[in-house]
Amino acid sequence: MFSKSISRHMTYKNVRRYFNSVLNNETLASVISVECKDSIDRFLDRYDTFMFDCDGVLWRNDHITPIPGINNAIQKLQSLNKRILYVTNNSIVSRDSLQRKFHSHGFESPLENIFGNGYSAAVFIKELLKVSGKVYLVGGAGMKWELDQVGLESVGMGSDSDTPSSDVNDLLKYRLHDDIEAVLVGFDEHFSFNKICKASTYISNPQCHFIATNSIEKGTFIGQADNRRRMPLTGMMVNAISETANRIPVIVGKPNTVMFECIKKKHDIDNSRTVFIGDSLKADMGFAKTVGIDSALVLTGVSSLKDLRDCPDLTPTYVINCFADIVT
Ligand SMILES: [Mg+2]
Repeated sequence: MFSKSISRHMTYKNVRRYFNSVLNNETLASVISVECKDSIDRFLDRYDTFMFDCDGVLWRNDHITPIPGINNAIQKLQSLNKRILYVTNNSIVSRDSLQRKFHSHGFESPLENIFGNGYSAAVFIKELLKVSGKVYLVGGAGMKWELDQVGLESVGMGSDSDTPSSDVNDLLKYRLHDDIEAVLVGFDEHFSFNKICKASTYISNPQCHFIATNSIEKGTFIGQADNRRRMPLTGMMVNAISETANRIPVIVGKPNTVMFECIKKKHDIDNSRTVFIGDSLKADMGFAKTVGIDSALVLTGVSSLKDLRDCPDLTPTYVINCFADIVT
């Protein structure tokens, strides 16, 4: 029963029956289903700012497959003069590449409404920590672009230039910069032993800030059933450096509050008129709860109604089968 997803065109009555079959009474009572025209209108009237997660909400979690009709839903919000902010834990992509991706999915967004955690980390380091010196970056080109945009010099992107070695005499010759003020860790396809050595050495100085884009996502399956493989994600890279240095980073990404502080640096947010739409109970519904805004769980991504039943403390304000359903 739990593996069944709700059909997009299931009637409101049937959706309620399905919810009833999966959720216990207490959780069910606190969730509002947004599945009929009246409830959609009330939902839209209730908020001025709609914050969206991207993967699993605007497209499937494979990052490729579009969700039919999502462009019409976004355009409907735009026609109602709603402010739409995109808030994603993906540290690989920069805002300009996300902007192009939105265009390819049939909707547009100004750059200032997009908050990848690479950008939020750059804003946090520059504007909240007031760092003006160099950043040692364990991350990719998208994160370097974001640091460049806020005027922060960074080193470390790409393959490390020192030859890997387990000989301590070689390790002591690894080239280090003597003016690193912050270490920033995000997704890095060139992650390596050398980078762990260097990052953990920099942050062994307590004056050096230690920031990570996110920590929840540690690994995932990729590929189809006939060629399914595992790949590591940012949380694994952050953990390796954190454990080596015996130091805990400040995490920028959802569900932590830093991302919200960065958003509020750029936009006036009225919490009571803001809703977060996401597919992850832990990252998205957790973020909304932490920062004190309403939330809507969509069932087009990682979390299901079964997960909701198992995590009653993360119960959202609303459940929407698919955000495209707001266009009736
Ligand atoms: Mg997501």
